[in-house]
This record gives sequence, C-alpha cells and structure tokens, in this order.
Amino acid sequence: MVRAAVLPAVGAPLQVTEIELPEPGPGQVRVRLAAAGVCHSDLSLSNGTMRVPVPAVLGHEGAGTVVSVGEGVTHLAPGTGVVLNWAPSCGSCHACGLGEVWLCANALTGAGEVHARRGDDGTELHPGLNVAAFAQETVVAASCVLPVPDGVPLTDAALLGCAVLTGYGAVHHAARVRPGETVAVYGVGGVGLATLQSARIAGAERIIAVDVSPEKEELARRAGATDFVLASDTTPREIRGLTDKQGVDVAVECVGRAVTIRAAWDSTRRGGRTTVVGIGGKDQQVTFNALEIFHWGRTLSGCVYGNANPAQDLPVLAEHVRAGRLDLGALVTERIALEGIPAAFENMLAGKGGRALVVF
Ligand SMILES: [Zn+2]
Ligand SMILES: [Zn+2]
Repeated sequence: MVRAAVLPAVGAPLQVTEIELPEPGPGQVRVRLAAAGVCHSDLSLSNGTMRVPVPAVLGHEGAGTVVSVGEGVTHLAPGTGVVLNWAPSCGSCHACGLGEVWLCANALTGAGEVHARRGDDGTELHPGLNVAAFAQETVVAASCVLPVPDGVPLTDAALLGCAVLTGYGAVHHAARVRPGETVAVYGVGGVGLATLQSARIAGAERIIAVDVSPEKEELARRAGATDFVLASDTTPREIRGLTDKQGVDVAVECVGRAVTIRAAWDSTRRGGRTTVVGIGGKDQQVTFNALEIFHWGRTLSGCVYGNANPAQDLPVLAEHVRAGRLDLGALVTERIALEGIPAAFENMLAGKGGRALVVF
C-alpha cells in the first residue's frame, strides 16, 4: 500500500488515503515519486472545469525513480530517474504522423491507463491525466516516462513534466519568440513563471509580466520580467505605453479566461502573435469584431502542452538548467505534503504564489 491524494467525486475535497497498486504489467513501469507539482489543471479536473472519471488519483507533473518494470520494458532499469509525461504519443495517429505529437489523438483516451484501488474498500481509481502523480508510487505505461537528463535534480525535474514544457514550448514552439522582441505574459503562476524565464532565454528584450496580485511582482522579476503591470481594465493601454505605443510582439496568456485572452490580444502589436496557454471553460466566450481582425493583422493561436515534443525538448531544457539559464527551483514557492494539496488549490484560486510542490 502507498499513500495517495484521491478525488472521491467532482467538486469534493481530495482525501489522502492508502491505495493498492497493481504490479507493472507488460509495457508498464512502477515509479516511486520524488516530487509532484500542483498544476492548475489538477484544480480544473477536481472542480469539473475539465472532465475526469472519478474516483481518481490526480497529479500529472512528477518525477521519481523506477522501482520495477513489467515484461518487455528493456530501456528502463530500476533506479533510473524519470520524468512523468502525461501526454504520451502513439506514433501512429494523424497528428503523430505530422510530427504534432502534442495533439496525439490517443494520448488521453484511457487506453494505456493503469488503475489502482482504494486500500479500504477496493474501489477502482482512475489516474487523472494518465500518470496519477499525487501518490508515493504509481504504475504507468512505459511511454509515460522519460529519463531525467543528467544534471537535473530529481525533485526539480518534476516541474519539467508540465509547467516548464508548457511555458518553454509556448515561447519557443508556439510563439517562436526571437531575440530583441517584446513579450507580455498574462498570469504569473507556475506556467507563467516558466514562460517568463523562457522569454529571457529566447533573448526577448522587454518582458512585461501581468498579474492581478501585486505580490507576484518580485517573483516575476526574478524570472526575467523587466516590467510588471498590475492587471486592470487599462492593462493593454499601459503595455502600449511601455512599447512605443505599438503593443508587444508576442502576448502569452497563461490564465484561460475570456477577459485575459481579450486583454492579451489588445496588448499585441499590429501583426504580432497572441498565444493562449491557459485552459478556460466553455462559459468563457471571447468576442472580436470583423474589422479589428482585419485591421490588426494579428495571429491568435492556441497551444497544447506548449506544442512540445517531450522526448526532444527535455534534453534541451536540461542544457538550459545546467548552464544556469533555467532556474527550476525559482518556480516553487511552497513545498508541501499530500495533505497540503487542498490548501494549494485555495492559494491558486486566490491568485497567490507560484508552484506548490509536493515533496515525498
Ligand atoms: Zn499541468
Ligand atoms: Zn498519436
């Protein structure tokens, strides 16, 4: 038995309880978690904004050590440090054929899911986003783990699995920020901080962080922001004021709300790029009039998992970590136990802090 944070029903608080894991079957691995980040998507799954079958073990941003492997797994040995990858690509669907592995049609179909059981009554538990990282140990398909690159501490490596791949990918793959460009980042949570650091790595000249909470300014500046704007109705105007009345070349929205998507669009220069990373609900309607779409000539794009290819991007991120350009520890504002996850959700809703990291 291992301890895990279980979501008993949508909208209910997580319960820390003992769970029973199956032995890894063919093509599966058992991982002992070192750390797991609390991501906004976990909150969205727990409150029903995103759908998840329940009861479930949430958590999808984790890293740990391989404990044992199932039949046919020859590329991983017990003791290997691994990052969990919640969106494993199948290699055979249309998107994978195009090289767009982040859009793999089979990533979240539940086909490769491994189900644990509650220790008290044997109820089957679904793994939220494939990997069920809010547990001391988890059993996953071998395609859901990637070796931790050399030089990256195991606890820090957890952040690579979602926040950093997403923020880095938004900058490098989706928006393709070039040296000297100006960038605005809406929302200074875990992904926003990774986006700010990535904009700095990309050589952006002016990096403007926007958040509703003034206490985020210091965090944002440490992550590379050259300016901080407290979010208000006049944010786009303030951003134009900081950029020769033009607006930024690239605005990245890491919130997932209609009002911030609209503000990010309004902050973007004529011909610039607005990239939406935040995951919003169906109730968030964003409107544009036909004339402004023509007039501004902007590109508005979505971005899934940073449009990243984890197998290719992790070694690149590790190189940035080793060179001191990417500071994973700086994303973490709180180290907690499994019991601390509900409070971490509350902080997220209140707009407080960066990443909360469950350390096992
Ligand atoms: Zn996430
Ligand atoms: Zn695929």
